[in-house]
Amino acid sequence: MPTLAAGKKQTPRRQGRPAPELIFGDLWTYDPAPETADPKLKKRYELFINGRFVAPKSGKYFSSINPANEQKLAEIALADRADVDAAYRAAKKAYDTTWGKMPGAERAKYLFRIARLLQDRAREFAVAETMDGGKPIKESRDFDVPMAAAHFFYHAGWADKLDYVAPGRRIAPLGVVGQVIPWNFPLLMCAWKLAPALAMGNCVVLKPAETTSITALKLAEIIQDAGLPPGVVNIVTGAGETGAAVMGHPIPAKVAFTGSTEVGKIIMRSLAGTDKKMTMELGGKAANIIFDDAPLDQAVEGIINGIFFNQGHVCCAGSRLLVHEPVADRVIAKLKQRMKVLRVGDPLDKNTDVGAINSKEQLARITALVKSGVKEGAEMFQPACTLPAKGWYFPPTIFSGVSMSHRIAREEIFGPVLSILTFRTPEEAVEKANNTAYGLSAGVWTDKGSRILKMSTELKAGVVWANTYNKFDPTSPFGGYKESGFGREGGRQGLLDYCRLV
Ligand code: NAP
Ligand code: MG
Repeated sequence: MPTLAAGKKQTPRRQGRPAPELIFGDLWTYDPAPETADPKLKKRYELFINGRFVAPKSGKYFSSINPANEQKLAEIALADRADVDAAYRAAKKAYDTTWGKMPGAERAKYLFRIARLLQDRAREFAVAETMDGGKPIKESRDFDVPMAAAHFFYHAGWADKLDYVAPGRRIAPLGVVGQVIPWNFPLLMCAWKLAPALAMGNCVVLKPAETTSITALKLAEIIQDAGLPPGVVNIVTGAGETGAAVMGHPIPAKVAFTGSTEVGKIIMRSLAGTDKKMTMELGGKAANIIFDDAPLDQAVEGIINGIFFNQGHVCCAGSRLLVHEPVADRVIAKLKQRMKVLRVGDPLDKNTDVGAINSKEQLARITALVKSGVKEGAEMFQPACTLPAKGWYFPPTIFSGVSMSHRIAREEIFGPVLSILTFRTPEEAVEKANNTAYGLSAGVWTDKGSRILKMSTELKAGVVWANTYNKFDPTSPFGGYKESGFGREGGRQGLLDYCRLV
């Protein structure tokens, strides 16, 4: 496929063989191909409490910005403690009077309806997700929205079979749960949180991230259209203070948090001594491990997908590459070649591979960590690419010559930045991969099945992908070791975290 690093126009060579660096393309620009579906945005989004959209008690609103061009998309209601309290009271009432008593087979019908309505409005949701968060439209269209619908379908299927969640035991819902989610997969995280909680018979108060509330509130429209009893799902918007009010309220029997390890620790400290259940899905610093017998071209695609997918705004991003010494030079050369044809730019363009960074603050964080990498002596490579003049963007970046003491090898960057280390033996690979405070995911690339099995038992990571990366399925539990958190989302294990054994 002929491609060109964004914005650079070149004339095809007419005579002789192309120079080696041009074999991959670097030949033609593509015409812009923006997605044009109407995201049906409202000018103002209210709180969703007790089945209705209501103004915040304080009368305050904040702006949601499109990170691709810094334009304001909508006003979002700012919920304070009183609003959060109203949401929890509505949830408690719904649990006591309707949802908690409803047979699972009836609850399933609502979940199926939500999944189908989401499918009906898939394009609209994909465009809204891309405009609010900055991720490429091909990801929101092909991954986020279908996967969110898949989670509702999957858990709808469980709702009348809950006796099989804990064979031999009887189970009961927890009651009301509080949930706070981050900005990297705004709609998908709503689905991960809501679907299992609702299937199990719980009622929910959920807070999306300040920069990406729109698709959660559009999902509230679907929840209303699906006829879910009022108060079963309540969505309150705001920043960290609203999140703290959701996590700290006395009503919920359980809180579920996805976000940074730093905020996760604050929440855990504040809830220590209470009898609330908790699940924490926190940060990561995954190693993608390439052995010399791996199919290298395939592995390079996996590395690219692992770190540049969604601009590296992925908790399980393959942000460290551990490459076997005999093939290190070849892998790095192939990687650089592949990076030259990544398209960075307008997230709404169907050809864009790397979109916008979610916020100005996140861009500043990525820039600071990349500067530390250069300062600490690692060797940086960025392909030539022209970034749009307006909006927040960061070019795909790799660092070679990285050692374990470098900040870029230890800290979560949460951007399109890869740190490359080498290893000589499988033992060294395991030791380096596990030498981190995190343990969310890892990737292993090798031709040997036995090596995959050995590595996956020795790697301290919740998910180990073999000869692939960043693959998700609602049936498969996801969660961390160590400072990446505890509890699982997805599969039977995910449901166990939303019930009590009686
Ligand atoms: P964050 O700063 O921890 O924020 C996560 C959520 O918590 C947001 O809704 C945030 O509100 C809210 N919040 C902030 N302070 C709070 C407090 N004191 N009490 C309660 N809630 C509070 O994380 P982020 O920067 O949005 O997201 C990136 C992080 O999420 C990364 O570390 C990533 O690895 C992690 N993540 C983990 C998983 C997983 O499954 N393990 C999945 C996705 C992301 P505002 O943002 O509105 O201020
Ligand atoms: Mg936004």
